[in-house]
Amino acid sequence: MIIAIDGPAASGKGTLAKRIADLWGLPCLDTGLLYRAVARDVAARGFRLDDPWAALALARSINAGELCDPELRTPKVGDGASIVARMPMVRGALLAYQRNFSAQPGGAVLDGRDIGTVVCPWADAKIYVTATAEVRAKRRYNEYVCRGEPVVYEAVLADILKRDERDSSRESAPMRAAADADLLDTSELDIEAAFDAAVGLIKRKIGQ
Ligand code: C5P
Repeated sequence: MIIAIDGPAASGKGTLAKRIADLWGLPCLDTGLLYRAVARDVAARGFRLDDPWAALALARSINAGELCDPELRTPKVGDGASIVARMPMVRGALLAYQRNFSAQPGGAVLDGRDIGTVVCPWADAKIYVTATAEVRAKRRYNEYVCRGEPVVYEAVLADILKRDERDSSRESAPMRAAADADLLDTSELDIEAAFDAAVGLIKRKIGQ
């Protein structure tokens, strides 16, 4: 069974994807980490983030087994990820890895922006997770504070709005809900309620 979880930054899709994967005993891939790793590597080698050839070469050499570097979670790398993610060649280079991951025996859960539309349009269940920009900014702000990182709420909100705009307006695989995705607005839901709602939607979709 393949489950696609898409949505904007800090919508809660990553946490939901992990919990859904645990429930069904499936492997889980946070595809944003792939784009983040490319951005980190492009910057670390001194290239411009919008240099397509540098980004392509580094996307091709990503070691997807090493995605637990804490630097990948920083706001700077997240912002850089949305720049490299605009380039069709970079998206193409990361597509095969994502599709192979989804094709494991038993299936997988993948979360990102284009899983239901481009990476796995054949997924058995698709959820598009949303929440207002203010709610998402507050969640992200709290995460940074918990990690002891110095942040300002207004800057987090501005970053989220900028990334929404970049991700939804790009030509290649823009962030959007697949026509057959179930929408889940988590603005007023805590993680337990969002998880219950997501499980209900998936069970209905797969006829359990
Ligand atoms: O999900 P996360 O915030 O980690 O993603 C970082 C960036 O990577 C996103 O803002 C988006 O530009 C890009 N991304 C993408 N397609 C995906 C996953 C992430 O374009 N499937």
